[in-house]
Amino acid sequence: MTSEEKELHIAIDGPAASGKTTVGKLVAKKINALFFDTGLVYRSATWFLLKNGCALTDSHEVMSCLEKMHLTLQNNPETQETEILINGVSVSKELHLPNIDKHVSIVSAIPEVRQLLTSLQREIGLKGRTVLVGRDIGTVVLPDADIKVYLKASAETRALRRFEENQKNGIESSYQDILTDLIRRDQIDSSRQTAPLKAAADAHILNTDDLTADKVAERILELVNG
Ligand code: C5P
Repeated sequence: MTSEEKELHIAIDGPAASGKTTVGKLVAKKINALFFDTGLVYRSATWFLLKNGCALTDSHEVMSCLEKMHLTLQNNPETQETEILINGVSVSKELHLPNIDKHVSIVSAIPEVRQLLTSLQREIGLKGRTVLVGRDIGTVVLPDADIKVYLKASAETRALRRFEENQKNGIESSYQDILTDLIRRDQIDSSRQTAPLKAAADAHILNTDDLTADKVAERILELVNG
C-alpha cells in the first residue's frame, strides 16, 4: 500500500470451487491489495489434527490439540500465495490433498475452532488494502468490509472447473468424485450453526456460471471504482 492509497477491505464469499481464489487474486493484483484465502487456516488446523491422530468429533480434544499448533503465515506478494508453516514446517503443498478436503468441513463446523481462527483472519483482513476469500468473510470476519461479493455457480459448473484445473496441473481426479465432494462440503458448510456459508445481506451476488474469471474480476473492480 502506498501513501496515496486508501485502506480498502474486500470480502468474497461463496461455495467450494466457485472461483473465489482465481478472482480474488486478479482483483487484489489490480488494486495493489494483499490476497488471503481463509480456507487455508481451516485446512491447516485439519492437517494438524489428522497428523496428530486427534479425534475430530470431540471438540475438547480438538481444542486441546490445537493449543500445540503454532501457525506462521508468510505472504509472497509476487505469486500472491501464502506459505504456511505449522510449528516451523512448511505444509502448503499438503493442504489441498483429498484427505484434507474430506475432513475440513467437519473441523470448521466446530464453534471453538472458528472462534480461535476468526481473530487471526480478521487481523490480516483489517491491515491496509486486502481481499479475503472464504465462507463467512462478509458476515463474520469483516462485517464492515467496503465491498462484499458472493459468488454463485451450479455444482456441475464448479466441479467441471475444478476437474479441468486438476488436469492442467497434472492431478489425477474424477469429475464425479469432485462433484460429490463439493455437494457434501457445501451441505455441511451451509447448515452449520456457527458462521454458515451464506451471502451477507449487503453482498453483491454474482452468478458466474456463464462468466470467465476475468469478467467476474471486472465486475468487482467496477464496484470498487463506484
Ligand atoms: O475455500 P476452501 O475450499 O479451501 O475451504 C475449505 C473449507 O474451509 C470449507 O469447505 C469450509 O469448511 C472451511 N472454511 C470456512 N470458512 C471460511 C473459509 C473456509 O468454514 N472463511
